[in-house]
Amino acid sequence: MVESEVPAVSFTNVHRHFGMVRAVDGVSFDIVDGEFFSILGPSGSGKTTCLRLIAGFDQPTAGRIMIHGQTTRGVPPYERDVNTVFQDYALFPHMTVMDNVAYGLMVKKVAKADQRRRALEMLEMVKLADMGGRKPAQLSGGQRQRVALARALINRPRVLLLDEPLGALDLKLRQQMQIELKALQRQVGITFIYVTHDQEEALIMSDRIAVFNVGRIEQIGTPGEIYERPATAFVAGFVGVSNLLTGEIAARITGSNTAFSVRPEKIRLAEPGNPAPEGSCTAEGEIHNVVYLGAASRYVVALDGGGELIVIEQNLNKSAAQVAASLGQRVRLAWDRRHNQPLADGEPGP
Ligand code: ADP
Ligand code: MG
Repeated sequence: MVESEVPAVSFTNVHRHFGMVRAVDGVSFDIVDGEFFSILGPSGSGKTTCLRLIAGFDQPTAGRIMIHGQTTRGVPPYERDVNTVFQDYALFPHMTVMDNVAYGLMVKKVAKADQRRRALEMLEMVKLADMGGRKPAQLSGGQRQRVALARALINRPRVLLLDEPLGALDLKLRQQMQIELKALQRQVGITFIYVTHDQEEALIMSDRIAVFNVGRIEQIGTPGEIYERPATAFVAGFVGVSNLLTGEIAARITGSNTAFSVRPEKIRLAEPGNPAPEGSCTAEGEIHNVVYLGAASRYVVALDGGGELIVIEQNLNKSAAQVAASLGQRVRLAWDRRHNQPLADGEPGP
């Protein structure tokens, strides 16, 4: 194996049990060096526990964790080439922004002039070069999170762990920081392991995503694979709107009673009885709910004979009034059957 093929972090059948609770329950994955890797799952699915195991704040009950090909057994946190950014920033309130950022170098007894130079470089990187003299309380939430990032990166760790770092920010700022974080990760080329419960955030930023559910991995893949080819009902429901059809209803539409999901933007609305193109699946029903979203509208269609599908359609020609008037109308749905994603057994996500 050449150097670059050694995974940045590798889990082999890792368990972490707390009494009866299997916080991490037999997890295996390899994270590629330089990758933006997200751990996505609902609250309590074991995400933070995985990060703590990598950082060395906690030890596995069983299994093996390697960092850059080296065993982590018996290696304390400060000897691992890893740093962590938490949701609550954990900045020192009495210290200036500059001193907060330089802290890691001060601990290592790096010369004062070098501390300042490198801290300033970091502050420039996170666009806070003119804020070095302020105290954390004089910054906005987004600025504080940037300081936390600069502080975590100053020691040039090879792996950065981020535990829901944008969770405390409002939506607009979070969206802006998502783009900035991704750009920053490309720029520094460090492996990012990013924990979030926000599916959109994971889709936007990640090279690959591991979807967690009660301590286990349901699927690992690129954002496109996770969204377009969810492996389980849980993934289909947790990442996006699932439109899950099972049993008799599935059989009526596809000819097979295998459960499947189809994404709402793949489905087209038309008048009942309208012929559909070759290779389509079709179903008829009634619009039971409609929400005008500005650029698009979201329709809930109750299918004849049971089940419902959500359809998202761009408002190309329809006005808000026309969209609202469609409530209660009968429609025919059609979609390319290649968009059907058969699902393994499992419970749908929330
Ligand atoms: P997440 O970060 O995905 O929300 P966690 O990794 O924090 O989930 O927790 C996973 C599960 O392990 C939860 O059921 C949680 O209550 C449990 N857990 C985590 N840490 C401890 C601990 N120190 N003692 C007991 N149970 C814990
Ligand atoms: Mg957590």
